[in-house]
Amino acid sequence: MQRQYRGAATREAERRDGMRRVADVRVRVLRSELDEPVRMSFGALAHRWTALVEVEADDGTVGHGESWINYPPWACFERVATIRRGIAPALVGEPVDDHRRLVAELRAGLAGFARQWGAPGPVAQALSGVDIALWDLVGKLRDASVAELLGGRERERVPVYASGLGPDGVAELVARVLEKGFTRAKCRVGLGEATDIATVDSARTLLTDDQLVLDANQAWTLEEAVRRLSRLASPATPWVEEPLRDMDPAELTALFRRTGIPAAAGENTYGRRGFAALAAHEAIAVLQPDVAKLGGVGELLAVCELAADHGKPVAPHWYGGGVALAAAAQVAAAHPAITGIEYDVRDNPFRDELVVGGFAVEHGEIAVPDGPGLGVEIDQDAVRRYEFADTAAPTAGAR
Ligand SMILES: [Mg+2]
Repeated sequence: MQRQYRGAATREAERRDGMRRVADVRVRVLRSELDEPVRMSFGALAHRWTALVEVEADDGTVGHGESWINYPPWACFERVATIRRGIAPALVGEPVDDHRRLVAELRAGLAGFARQWGAPGPVAQALSGVDIALWDLVGKLRDASVAELLGGRERERVPVYASGLGPDGVAELVARVLEKGFTRAKCRVGLGEATDIATVDSARTLLTDDQLVLDANQAWTLEEAVRRLSRLASPATPWVEEPLRDMDPAELTALFRRTGIPAAAGENTYGRRGFAALAAHEAIAVLQPDVAKLGGVGELLAVCELAADHGKPVAPHWYGGGVALAAAAQVAAAHPAITGIEYDVRDNPFRDELVVGGFAVEHGEIAVPDGPGLGVEIDQDAVRRYEFADTAAPTAGAR
């Protein structure tokens, strides 16, 4: 198992002298109870979840990554098992410097399992955490930020757009949107006609049509989408996110032609072929890859390049913690295709407490963290506060 993902090039790299090697790979599940469950079209989120990945080099330096585990509520158990049993044994002892090749070999080695398991998403999400941790680790070892490793830190601040409006507390959340200077905000819809209308109308009391985007979380059939958008959207609506249940390409075209409202998608897309199809689709205006889902920093950069080739903007999906937000910000600092990272305006301890200093929004922007790697320091007290004990014990024989 341990050696099966390694190719000849890695074995050659392994022979070079002076190279740091992976000494340990750990995953810690964090869970925070929400005061009120967050309602989505497909079900409620009762807790915030995230998986913090730690990759330690043989000199004790630790890189941090994040893997998205919001759904299903038992996703944490699969993720811990996949990282501990499927990934860690193949990484320990490998040279850190060759991390891009290492992740590519892991991806190739796991692809067969992912296909047979029907799990390309969970496998990519697990790889995301490991890939981000390796970029952080390599940055720390070379005293360079991830943005610098990607080719250059071209900006110090990056735009974010507000998400999380509706169906509850819309007025209060719109006030936060305005206070922090966001220029774009996203309403959650697909929760029933009356609820959706109440959400959007409430948001529109203070936000203009071109500031408001909609996210249906794949709630509607084509006919439902046409009907709902005729009431909820306007010609100025920048995009409707995941409007259709199956996101069928032909139906997306039909929806676009019948409503004139372009779509956005990407948070549930895995693999470059999938993103290439989105980038080429006439109805898709914006690509929304999630660095903690699609495979990490390297894959997010690849999607940015794909999108730029098609002249389309990238607005990374983000619904997790500060490590993933820092990773998206580092890529945004290096690549101009990213026009705004999603920023949930609701309370989120994994954004505000897990990373020392948090991510303050001013004038609709966040600062790109400064310093080597991701530029963030993990608050270990916060990790202990939120660690979900059911998956904390090491599994015998996992490594
Ligand atoms: Mg969404």
